[in-house]
Amino acid sequence: MKILRVALDLPLDTLFDYLDGGNSQLKVGQRVLVPFGKRQVIGIILARTALSDVADSKLKPIIQGFGDEPPLPAATLQLLKFCADYYQYPLGQALLSALPSRLREGKAAQLPKVTAYQLSAQARSAGLDAIPARAKLQRSLYQALAHTEPLDAAALAAVSSGWRNGIKQLMQQGWVETVATEHVLPPHTHQAISSPALNPDQQRAVDAMLAEAQAFKVWLLYGITGSGKTEVYMRLLQEVLSRPDTQALVLVPEINLTPQLEARFRARFPHLPMVMLHSQMNESERLHGWLRAQSGEARIIIGTRLSVFTPIKHLALMVVDEEHDASYKQQDGMRYSARDIAIVRAKSAGVPVVLGSATPSLESWHNAQSGRYGLLEMNNRAVLGAALPQIGTVDVRQLPPQEALHPQLIAAMRQRLERGEQSLLFINRRGYAPVLLCSACAWVAPCTRCSSRLVVHLRDKRLRCHHCGHEQRMPLQCPSCGNPDLRPAGQGTQRLEELLAEQFPTARILRVDRDSMRRKHAIAAMTKSVHAQEVDILVGTQMLAKGHDFPHLTLVGVIDTDSALFSPDYRAAEKLFAQLMQVSGRAGRAGKAGQVLIQTAFPDHVLFHALQQHDYAEFADTLLAERQLANFPPYCFEALLRAEATHYQAVREFFHAAMAASATISHHLAVYDPVRPRMERLKGMERAQLLVQAGARPALQKFLRAWVPLLRSLPQASKVRWSVDVDPLDY
Ligand code: ADP
Ligand code: ZN
Ligand code: ZN
Repeated sequence: MKILRVALDLPLDTLFDYLDGGNSQLKVGQRVLVPFGKRQVIGIILARTALSDVADSKLKPIIQGFGDEPPLPAATLQLLKFCADYYQYPLGQALLSALPSRLREGKAAQLPKVTAYQLSAQARSAGLDAIPARAKLQRSLYQALAHTEPLDAAALAAVSSGWRNGIKQLMQQGWVETVATEHVLPPHTHQAISSPALNPDQQRAVDAMLAEAQAFKVWLLYGITGSGKTEVYMRLLQEVLSRPDTQALVLVPEINLTPQLEARFRARFPHLPMVMLHSQMNESERLHGWLRAQSGEARIIIGTRLSVFTPIKHLALMVVDEEHDASYKQQDGMRYSARDIAIVRAKSAGVPVVLGSATPSLESWHNAQSGRYGLLEMNNRAVLGAALPQIGTVDVRQLPPQEALHPQLIAAMRQRLERGEQSLLFINRRGYAPVLLCSACAWVAPCTRCSSRLVVHLRDKRLRCHHCGHEQRMPLQCPSCGNPDLRPAGQGTQRLEELLAEQFPTARILRVDRDSMRRKHAIAAMTKSVHAQEVDILVGTQMLAKGHDFPHLTLVGVIDTDSALFSPDYRAAEKLFAQLMQVSGRAGRAGKAGQVLIQTAFPDHVLFHALQQHDYAEFADTLLAERQLANFPPYCFEALLRAEATHYQAVREFFHAAMAASATISHHLAVYDPVRPRMERLKGMERAQLLVQAGARPALQKFLRAWVPLLRSLPQASKVRWSVDVDPLDY
């Protein structure tokens, strides 16, 4: 069995055979460095075999094996194999893209040594009393070190910010010595913040889940914002992690929210090693977190989408917070849904998975209604006296066309200013104005590379495309008719900010969007100043919609959502509801009543009615009934074939061939004609897509397994950029 069958990071569905070169100890799941053409690449061993299809004389030996590293566990390999198959993605690429980039590049999977401090034997025998009472810092450091194992910089910083001086003095006296360790140190010396008594809703949810905590089950925790879902997750973790060596994986939708969640978890579980895994960490931090999850040392793993593939030694529980969030779906490469993969993973690991949301995805809602998932509801806010906000609409049809803000909204904001409370205006467009318009001929500045319009960024006098990043100077006159009177039309965050400054000259206004929050730590600084009440009015995009908990915020105004009400994307209503529910959740979290005012030309729309009643369930049922009638997901299963090229001709020929290929496969599903998406051109590429719909998942999978290999071998496929998206969210 001298032949290793290796997966490589290549867009091919084959494995490659190499001789083990005498490295008989190399195991499945371990990395190897192998020659490939003129290059040397990293691969993962998937099998050992005695026979190869390649003649022995042509087999090359590996260059290097990583035999003393822990192999990827069988469960991880199996999960990635499942994904590669389900999402029609080359196995080698699936496997290697799940590795931290350091490992992909061939670096050693080694934990770095951390410097830690401990008391010397001399110090221990002399005792605390040998330190003079006035040397307070030294004494408290001594006490911290006397209690536990060696402490690292972070742990000592928790004792005192001036710890370095104190430690230096103690070291000079020979009382403290350093040790190098590669293990996670007991992170904190402070006391755990104890968990509050659960309210009846929470208790019911926790009890139900704990009663079945040792087996696979999907739970949908459907709880309004502020109902205490996070508290429920923490209580579950507390119980499950009280079993020795168990680990829990908590998935969160975006990095913006992880610091808050991290702080809450660290305060509650100071004694449990915890790692974070997200894209804003540097590569070595990522690698260390990953290795600690794999070794079993990290008991809590909190991460974004990609962390769903992290090898975890004793996985006992998974949580998917905000399970409806679209950022769980990867939009390029292997287009997986981390939520769906979490469920697959939980099933094969035989552990429960909790999906939490105030506005569950219709897929999950449907599964909960049909009894496939356990449904747990929490309909009340957890903090006593924190009522749900009052949600109302204001009718913009009565507004003069130039007015952006309804007098009722202005009055409500004025009232907040007088009471010293905060307001948030939510608008889903950054920049100054969404279009630049010629007052004479109605010319609108277009993006030359996309079928979209350029957004006005007045401050830097530039026009930018928010789809492709193209930017240019603002023209001085209309390129179509020569008219110099070009006007920004519509509202963006910057313009709204300007308008508010005129309306409320004394108010302190803060704009929160991708442009203003670009600097590192900008979000943390923003959060801090809102908490310190240094801000009266926040103007922001969806960046502000989620998670943030601002106790003095009592008014939320929503500008300009109507385009989503009548969007051709049938998921738009579901998304809008989730988003509005989430922004509404920002108002009145701590005992102060909140109010939400939505500006709309369609105040009678069912969506607003459901929103006013805080009744997602009813709205979801309505949407589901519509979907069933139209035979849309979750009542059917879809895959989307996308392709793009600089000339549409190539795209057309590809789809023509793809359709012909589909006709050679016997199937019972609908293969629709290709269509142009809403953005026909993007980044200079002409695009089209083709939808496949099936009544059942297995039928779709069977078809794709036959069709995608045919697509790969089409000569027309090499002239376009194409991809398959299984369970697509965007069309
Ligand atoms: P969600 O995740 O559902 O939005 P959180 O878990 O963040 O809700 O809880 C909202 C607020 O209520 C937080 O400030 C939290 O500390 C508080 N809270 C949650 N559960 C309780 C409880 N049982 N008793 C008191 N306060 C609670
Ligand atoms: Zn013009
Ligand atoms: Zn563009």
